[in-house]
Amino acid sequence: MTANRVRSQAITEVLNRTAVETAETRPLSEIWAIDVFNLAKMEEALSKNAFKAVKRTVKTGEPLDSATADIVAAAMKDWAMGKGVKFFSHVFYPLTNITAEKHDGFIVTNADGNAITEFTGSLLIKGEPDGSSFPNGSLRMTNAARGYTAWDPTSPAYIMWTANGPTLMIPSVFMSWTGESLDKKIPLLRSISAMDAAARRVLTLMGETDIAPLNASCGAEQEYFLVDQHFAVARPDLLLAGRTLFGAAPAKGQEFDDHYFGAIPERVQVFMQDFEEKLYRLGIPAKTHHNEVAPGQFEVAPYYEDANVAADHQQLLMTVMKATAAEHGFLCLLHEKPFAGVNGSGKHVNWSVANSTQGNLLDPGTSPEHNLNFLLFCGAVIRGVHKFGPLLRAVIATASNDHRLGANEAPPAIMSVYLGDQLEGVFNDIMAGKISVSTDGGVMDLGLSQILNFKRDPGDRNRTSPFAFTGNRFEFRAVGSSQSVSGPLTALNTMLTDSLTWVADQLEVQFEAGKTPPEAVACVIKELMELHSDAVFGGDGYSTEWHTAAVEERGLRNLPTTAEALPVFSEPEVIELFEKTGVLSAAELNARYEVYAEQYVNSIAVEAKLVIDMAKTVIYPAALSYAADLAKTYAVAQEVGASFDTTQLKVIAENANLLLSTVAQLESELECHDFADAKAHMSHSATSIRSLMDTVRSYADALEAEVDDALWPLPKYREMLFIK
Ligand code: ADP
Ligand code: MG
Repeated sequence: MTANRVRSQAITEVLNRTAVETAETRPLSEIWAIDVFNLAKMEEALSKNAFKAVKRTVKTGEPLDSATADIVAAAMKDWAMGKGVKFFSHVFYPLTNITAEKHDGFIVTNADGNAITEFTGSLLIKGEPDGSSFPNGSLRMTNAARGYTAWDPTSPAYIMWTANGPTLMIPSVFMSWTGESLDKKIPLLRSISAMDAAARRVLTLMGETDIAPLNASCGAEQEYFLVDQHFAVARPDLLLAGRTLFGAAPAKGQEFDDHYFGAIPERVQVFMQDFEEKLYRLGIPAKTHHNEVAPGQFEVAPYYEDANVAADHQQLLMTVMKATAAEHGFLCLLHEKPFAGVNGSGKHVNWSVANSTQGNLLDPGTSPEHNLNFLLFCGAVIRGVHKFGPLLRAVIATASNDHRLGANEAPPAIMSVYLGDQLEGVFNDIMAGKISVSTDGGVMDLGLSQILNFKRDPGDRNRTSPFAFTGNRFEFRAVGSSQSVSGPLTALNTMLTDSLTWVADQLEVQFEAGKTPPEAVACVIKELMELHSDAVFGGDGYSTEWHTAAVEERGLRNLPTTAEALPVFSEPEVIELFEKTGVLSAAELNARYEVYAEQYVNSIAVEAKLVIDMAKTVIYPAALSYAADLAKTYAVAQEVGASFDTTQLKVIAENANLLLSTVAQLESELECHDFADAKAHMSHSATSIRSLMDTVRSYADALEAEVDDALWPLPKYREMLFIK
């Protein structure tokens, strides 16, 4: 049997696959949110007064009294038990990117040994998972394990169906006994209310009287790869690290641009349908799906929702996507760069700020130059990105996203804002003190009578910007595909809070000086642009000229790796930002720095160990057996007086030797444990470890190009990317 038995078997298995049969699709109206205990279900189940109280809490964040909580708990239990639910779980979001759950039964037994069910308001409100095994930075001593979860009534409870039956899931926050946030939801909720207060101040100064609560909206576009599980199990790197640590580039990659928006393979379509039906049952409004740029890469995007619900839904979407993919025989890869040399995956976070009275404050309307609220809010975003660009870089910093950022396919690690020609013109005109009349995009007229004319957008798109205005929202494109959106949303809301507060202070000065609203806004925006227009950039973000100009002429910071970006969390302006807005205390922020730094170092260490293991036990032996074959052939040839060019054997020997010697270096670098601080440790991972891993890979990939295909044990790029 050849050494590639596993690989060739995998190919055969994959070729024999057919699309999984799934239940017939049902109309949206029959399945939409049927597994969600949302306001509509509560209205049916609760008394008028109880419903009114809950609705007020959901819409305005007002506290709920404990009597009403009891009523809601009883109704929630009845609804869930009607669907066969016996267990419930608080769902929470610790400082990893995962979702955590602790399941409890409704069951209690009485003195007669009968089983009854119980679910009170206090059980709904508070859970007590043993928190000690979740990352907490230095927020808690290991012996002080107590952690609490608490129900978040603003995100609806839902039922998760697994082979084990249905479970009632209750979105929750997670804190230490001392009340410090150990999760990603608490800061997000705090950032929304801080932003609401600051926005309200600006709107009030602008003469608005009826102001409904303001919320951030988020629509996240999720990119991902699907690889057949038969290939995945034959690749230890895919299984354990979620990306390939080895693999020579295939002869054909994405150079023909023939995958993007192409016809979706049948097996993948069946998966998507199944997956989206599950999302609909959970009330997640999946709206678009398509092939992405790389072969084997796809995207799903739900319709946007309030930030807190969108963040919970995003986590749920990732969970459901991975589970459904497995049912269809795929490994779903959310890693930012599973395959070297082909496009990586991001999660574009579309973000805006709105309420039910003023609408979307980032919607410029037809004449942005006269839309005063828009100018102030959009200006505030520009200021935020300029002041806190490095923070935006830090909240998307992970070992995996480092592979994508700054590569020529993803936004650079320098944060700037793209506004589009029209808006950039408006803001520049205000800065120059000119009365501005903006031009719109005009009408798209192809001169073909059968094609209807339509109104063109005022600006083209810029794919190279990490943070782009896209018509009525900003699109934070540098977010990684595997990430929770909570961190980025929290940072955006918080920097906006700071900027809106500055705007309100400036407006007050102008109004006290007797200015009219248009004059006051013009003065504030003029000053804002004079201070912060360096963050506005409409050119090619991939170009080296920009990288130089951004840093040298504009003073923007380029933080290419996580090792350089995460320490931003400990800079005084950032600590002050979070403290002042009440979003995170200095201790809570520091805990995040510690946890994320540790995650960074650990994930690189795991990969490095895998590199060593695979190089020694999989790749080197394959090279050796082919070398033995060649040597034998050369010897036999010599006996009959024939001779082969032996260069190939020499090339293999050379690469195999270098492979092993670099592995040895990597092993000894991994032994280093003496570091002054987290920053020094991260820097060692980012430089020594990462570069040695890359070097090992280069020899392995060179060997893959030499060794007999029949002997190569690992599924190759062409197989993983192109066979579905
Ligand atoms: P594209 O690929 O063109 O950027 P998509 O349609 O794939 O756009 O995704 C755009 C995302 O932005 C969707 O999730 C959409 O619901 C969301 N979105 C649209 N309007 C807003 C808004 N005002 N605020 C936040 N998100 C929005
Ligand atoms: Mg997009």
